Amino acid sequence: MADTVYEVVNIGDKSWRIEENGVRVFLFEGADQSLLVDTGFGSGDLKSVVAKLTQKPIIVVNTHADSDHTGCNNQFDKIYMHPAEFAHYDEQGPRSAETAPVQDGDILKLGGREFEVILIPGHTAGSIALFDRENRLLVAGDSVSAAPIFMFGAFRSFQAYIASLNRLSEISGNIDSIYPSHGPFPVGPELIEKLIGAAGLVMKGGVEGVSPPFDIPAKMYMTGGVGFFY
Ligand SMILES: [Zn+2]
Repeated sequence: MADTVYEVVNIGDKSWRIEENGVRVFLFEGADQSLLVDTGFGSGDLKSVVAKLTQKPIIVVNTHADSDHTGCNNQFDKIYMHPAEFAHYDEQGPRSAETAPVQDGDILKLGGREFEVILIPGHTAGSIALFDRENRLLVAGDSVSAAPIFMFGAFRSFQAYIASLNRLSEISGNIDSIYPSHGPFPVGPELIEKLIGAAGLVMKGGVEGVSPPFDIPAKMYMTGGVGFFY
């Protein structure tokens, strides 16, 4: 498989975003090991791209199990995700990588750098964010994004989503940058409040749904520059 589907962008000291046609994964290297967050659509040889950037042992974590985040999982031996994602992940067919749990509050220690796992159900039942407190950055998966967020279908809950955003709001004073998987990069912590407001308005029926730009069984609800497919 070619690796030309990927665009690698340095985003700081030993940190990269790897862009793949509308989804991005992140790679962070510590003194002892590296963290790969998500594996994209699966259209190329992600493992080779990562191997060119870091020679450290790699921990692979999925922010959630939607197929645009797990596409290259089978190129790796072991994948961490929250156990509330296992049922969703099981729907995606055969896989070779071992699946292992991460829990809310777990600390992923890379050596000189660490990420805390924060469970933020809503977009999916076991969505997580990864919080690098020292560097004031949050890797948020699809849950905090300026691109419209998928909220229709199985495993998704607007009520849980709003509760999770409120939890992130409590730490937003300790965040400078949020790294989303889709859309503009990076985004600021003020987006959390915007999404809380927009989600509440959509749930109350206060936003008119329009036809989405692609064929999905949902409508698009946009308000204040953010939105949802629901
Ligand atoms: Zn996604």
